[in-house]
Amino acid sequence: MRLEQFWWFRASVPAVVLVLLAYASWGYCYELCYNEIHQKLGQKSVAVGLICGAVTLALVVIFAWIQLVILGPGKQPKVLPFRILPDSAGTGSEDDQSSGKSTDGRAIETIVPPRVYQCDPQGYPLWCTACQSIKANRAHHSSTLGYCVPRFDHYCMWIGTVVGRRNYRLFVQYSLYLWGFCILVIASTASYLPRIIASRKTIPRVNPNILVVLALSCMVTLMVGPLSLSHIYYMSVNRTSLEVIATKRRSKATKNWICYLNETDGMRYVFEFKALDAQDYWNKHNVLRNLKEFLGAHIWLWLVPVGSNVKYHQSLSFEYEDALQSYIEEVSDSFLETLQNRIANGDYLTTFRAYGDQTSK
Ligand SMILES: [Zn+2]
Repeated sequence: MRLEQFWWFRASVPAVVLVLLAYASWGYCYELCYNEIHQKLGQKSVAVGLICGAVTLALVVIFAWIQLVILGPGKQPKVLPFRILPDSAGTGSEDDQSSGKSTDGRAIETIVPPRVYQCDPQGYPLWCTACQSIKANRAHHSSTLGYCVPRFDHYCMWIGTVVGRRNYRLFVQYSLYLWGFCILVIASTASYLPRIIASRKTIPRVNPNILVVLALSCMVTLMVGPLSLSHIYYMSVNRTSLEVIATKRRSKATKNWICYLNETDGMRYVFEFKALDAQDYWNKHNVLRNLKEFLGAHIWLWLVPVGSNVKYHQSLSFEYEDALQSYIEEVSDSFLETLQNRIANGDYLTTFRAYGDQTSK
């Protein structure tokens, strides 16, 4: 059992972070800005400006954090088995057939498979036994939350929740504003420190709280800075942390398969990809388009830490696209071209006719 599965562990690290943030805000605002800059150096307006800046940033960080946890990473709606075989055995095994019961108690229902889906080497879609659902493209089952998360990114120990499609923008905003808070503390403390030391004749020459807050801010900056930058890079090339991590493992699991419907001959083709290539399935090769997929279509909202850019919806439909709505993942045209080229070169694992593709016409 992993530690993240205990709620007290998930809550304890964020609680420590919150206490440290409160301490840093107090140490900075009271000890540095009020006691030193305002009282001793007599720069009232500078002190007020810095306090307002720090308090605003700290509140924004906490506000983004609360929303991150409350909104959550999103929950993938249930997706019925794909109609691969005529006998309605959507995912092809006995277990799966016994699972599917629609709300009115009828036998298993199947749906028309989407044009491109992630699959196993035989071309069968990925099935989540815990959720009793097809795993939509890019979704991953979170054992912490107990359900499949669309565009699963990672479990963040510091904020105590999973980051996925729905709260990803808030996560990026949280890191950026926390980074901003630390930079404000470091820059202003560093610029006033020589004057504070010079103005005091007694030992200690500087209040120790000011130094502790400075050290803490430097530590957090070293973690949050590179983290924010790497996430900005991942967004610009349309990758999740999970997809990036998969490229670093040297195990068998680093292979990926894609099942694709070639509309010219009506056949399904199964392609094998290495994780290194698989992380580019969703890359649109256009930075702005990729960023919009993660941060939303309206650029002026990218830094506004209010709500999610993904609408909440309840699945009312059995069709793939309607069930997933804003959780739909699309591949790029250049990726489809790659698949077409591989078909032309005979570079695929297997090919078959899916029953659902014929019934959909
Ligand atoms: Zn699941």
